[in-house]
Amino acid sequence: MTRPEPLLRRGLMFILSSPSGAGKTTIARKLLQAEENLRMSVSVTTRPMRPGEIDGRDYHFVDCATFDRMVEDDAFLEYAEVFGHSYGTPRAQIRDGMKQGDDYIFDIDWQGTQQLYQRAQHDVVRVFLLPPSIEALEARLRARATDAEDVIVGRMARARAEISHWDAYDYVVVNDDIEECFTKVRMILEAERMRRARQTGLIDFVRGLMR
Ligand code: 5GP
Repeated sequence: MTRPEPLLRRGLMFILSSPSGAGKTTIARKLLQAEENLRMSVSVTTRPMRPGEIDGRDYHFVDCATFDRMVEDDAFLEYAEVFGHSYGTPRAQIRDGMKQGDDYIFDIDWQGTQQLYQRAQHDVVRVFLLPPSIEALEARLRARATDAEDVIVGRMARARAEISHWDAYDYVVVNDDIEECFTKVRMILEAERMRRARQTGLIDFVRGLMR
């Protein structure tokens, strides 16, 4: 028996937000490995590149003048200032990819989430990851970098500020165990893909069934 073609589907914008240290990057990476038709939205930023980062993969690194020009040209789906630097989601690529049924993961903060939701409510799925405890989050932040104490304290303050926006998301997952959290987030993606409104090929398919 031949396998039927997958139904035509409109892509979705899968937003993953969390305080830094709650495992968002790991979950995003695992999803990208596991799922075809899933891409990462690469943001534009004015913040300096960190060691290990690659221009075009982690971010498109630009200077402030370039960023401002892109704002004027309406090149961003959303943009915001986070921790003193500008970040924005480039509009190009995403719209076209979504029409072809590609889904995009967005690693953006609550401000960007709010803007995207206002602009593209029906395409947006908002997922927020929480750490199992504030101690666990602090331990992860400390283990991750050789940062000075005041940097850690600053990061914890920002983490608390980010956590306070938990109620602006559709799904909230506590990341107690990375594999379990990954499975849950993947289930959310699978379920959201099956929403009737996203399955643009359904009408023809069902017509065929009833013929
Ligand atoms: P970092 O500089 O550590 O990579 O990211 C700092 C924060 O900026 C994170 O909370 C991340 O989610 C957020 N961020 C990254 N890209 C974008 C973007 O395009 N738009 C918005 N609004 N936030 C972003």
